[in-house]
Amino acid sequence: MLDVNPERRYIAHFPKDNAIISVGSNYGGNVLLGKKCLALRIGSYLGKQEGWFAEHMLVLGVEAPTGEKTYVAAAFPSACGKTNFAMMVPPAHLKGWKIWTIGDDIAWMRAGPDGRLYAINPEAGYFGVVPGTNSKSNPAAVQMISRDTIFTNVALTPDLDVWWEGKDGPPPKECLDWRGNKWTPESLEKAAHPNSRFTAPMTNNPLLAPEANDPRGVPISAIIFGGRRSDTMPLVYQAFNWVHGVYVGATMGSEMTAAAVGGAGQVRRDPMAMLPFCGYHMGDYFRHWINMHKTIKHPPRIFHVNWFRKNSQGEFLWPGFGENMRVLKWIVDRCHARTDAEETALGWVPGPKSLDLTGLHNFTPERLEQVQTIREDEWRREILMQDELFMKLHARLPKELIFQRELLLARL
Ligand code: GDP
Ligand code: MN
Repeated sequence: MLDVNPERRYIAHFPKDNAIISVGSNYGGNVLLGKKCLALRIGSYLGKQEGWFAEHMLVLGVEAPTGEKTYVAAAFPSACGKTNFAMMVPPAHLKGWKIWTIGDDIAWMRAGPDGRLYAINPEAGYFGVVPGTNSKSNPAAVQMISRDTIFTNVALTPDLDVWWEGKDGPPPKECLDWRGNKWTPESLEKAAHPNSRFTAPMTNNPLLAPEANDPRGVPISAIIFGGRRSDTMPLVYQAFNWVHGVYVGATMGSEMTAAAVGGAGQVRRDPMAMLPFCGYHMGDYFRHWINMHKTIKHPPRIFHVNWFRKNSQGEFLWPGFGENMRVLKWIVDRCHARTDAEETALGWVPGPKSLDLTGLHNFTPERLEQVQTIREDEWRREILMQDELFMKLHARLPKELIFQRELLLARL
């Protein structure tokens, strides 16, 4: 079997010898051959044939104060917060709520004997971005990478320790940068490459769920899609049903940073965060998603989130990170039918009092209104922009998705 990665370099898979050989690929995720190449590209192809899912999703368990555990899978494109969300430490005000990690990047999911969707994490460790990792942004990750960890493309200090931008404590007076050149705080270049990585065993994670290695997997109650959008997309909404949810995932997108496109941010469609990782035609992939509804008797509820909406001053409207627990709590409560929601053109959104904002300073009702607002002009543009994706896949695009787009337009 031959697999082609997004950089059009060849990755050969020889089932007879149980080997995957990558030629000329130097992107981290491709070099770890069991990861994107096997667990996603080849996995997704096998899943299509055999009736299961290989997805670019984190999996976590949410423990409520009552001890109840609810499992959630979430697909965000690279650099949109999967690892942070999977290892989230909830704010003190949400007493008794706790997050347990199952996985931070890949989920294999199939229908269980009870008709629910069960997920396992096929990986043994985490491969995460290092810069910006500190005890404020991700305390669990800091503890996890304090031992038994391989660092790549970080800086090296004279006492043979590693360093990166955004690490706890002051920068070293002098060190070797990721290229091996002398670096001081006066240097113009970054000491660590912005995409420098840690590779750590998952057993180092203090939030690792005890059931993470259960071969039966964990039953998924909610699937969350999300991307990095500075406008248009509200903080959270819930799809009306499975096919609508597939449409929400199929049309998701993320903003490339201004630096990457040399100008204003531009939205790149990344269906289910799988565009670089799906091993076959995206139109057939959407068909597989729609068909899976038949094998899952009790399908998970589907949601869309956006932690990255900005105001006109360019500031994030939502504090993010641990505070995302407030949104997750609403999602979990929705799955258990114990909180209210209002119907909008996009889907269901939290009712006026159903998002728990206790202890969230400076977060006024006006700010919530801003982060949740659905602007008709932005959504007309959004639906028009989806044309590019729909045209590209037209020949094999399930008609159900075209119909969902029509329905959305009619509701607006
Ligand atoms: P992954 O590649 O999907 O696993 O993403 P990471 O969890 O490594 O995060 C990618 C980047 O997004 C990092 O720079 C994080 O600091 C940032 N990030 C993660 N979660 C949030 C959030 O809730 N709000 C904001 N503003 N940034 C976040
Ligand atoms: Mn990650």
